[in-house]
Amino acid sequence: TAPLLEAKGLVRRYVMRRGVFGRTVPVEAVAGVSLDLRVGETLGLVGESGCGKSTAGRLVLGLETPDEGSVRFDGAPMPEPGTDAWRKLRARMQLVFQDPLGALDRRITIGEQIAEPLVIHATPGDHAARVAELLTSVGLREEQASRYPHELSGGQRQRAVLARALATEPALIVADEPISALDVSIQAQVMNLLADIQARRGTALLFISHDLRVVRQVSHRVAVMYLGKIVEEGDPDGVLQEPAHPYAQALVSAIPAPGRQGKRIVLQGDPPSPADRPTGCAFHPRCAVAVAMCREVSPALKPRASDGRLVACHLVHGDAVSLKVAA
Ligand code: SF4
Ligand code: MG
Repeated sequence: TAPLLEAKGLVRRYVMRRGVFGRTVPVEAVAGVSLDLRVGETLGLVGESGCGKSTAGRLVLGLETPDEGSVRFDGAPMPEPGTDAWRKLRARMQLVFQDPLGALDRRITIGEQIAEPLVIHATPGDHAARVAELLTSVGLREEQASRYPHELSGGQRQRAVLARALATEPALIVADEPISALDVSIQAQVMNLLADIQARRGTALLFISHDLRVVRQVSHRVAVMYLGKIVEEGDPDGVLQEPAHPYAQALVSAIPAPGRQGKRIVLQGDPPSPADRPTGCAFHPRCAVAVAMCREVSPALKPRASDGRLVACHLVHGDAVSLKVAA
């Protein structure tokens, strides 16, 4: 079956000002990302803040237009933003992000806000009944429709945001750090809720997070991003337990895990900024095993010979060695 979502070679450039009086520099927040997602599948997108994962999520939804590359949804190209075709499609994809209070209007009741997408997309049927059903499906009470956001707890607000996102029965949800602002006790509840919705409706989920433990629990596949590119992608147990890419190894070594051998890898060098993208492999200044060619040549994301896992590293593919032999 064809993927529900197919993004190819996405590039997104910005202009960034350095310092208050600084000159502007062009940066690539997303530097060539391809990803796909099938019905009912969860892809976990991980990486440090600033690696471009949120921008990738917005590109996929058509909330930002890529400078290069393309997005196909349900077998057809993403329509131009702002057109009727685009608005229609938008009802089938939703974004849920970190800050539920910021996502809600404090002057409008929860019920009206959940009904909003039904109104915008002129969904037929009894909207009040549908709101009640949505509230129940996220574990809130029908009476809470008349409450204002500040009258709910943080966890309840995030549930309300989810209810609103679900109102139009989207085929795809991009969830950008959806539980990061919540208490740990509430996080599991919201994640279970997302998993439950997915199982019932076959919703595809792009789950963007820096929390590797949660990602491993909920994802069918995981992709690790570094400076605007995916550097490793595969099944969560493999990637998050025995990562192949040196950056993924460092990222994973930072989380304590009982079963895992080896100690924490502390990265040297400055934290990455897209304004200072190194040449070749963008990770090379911080990579303990970099070889000469890493400074010159950007490694392609391609299947590893042993098991097909996607990795972007010269050493993993033996490129450095074969180059030496050829020379
Ligand atoms: Fe390190 Fe080179 Fe692999 Fe990049 S390509 S991760 S610098 S070894
Ligand atoms: Mg972000």
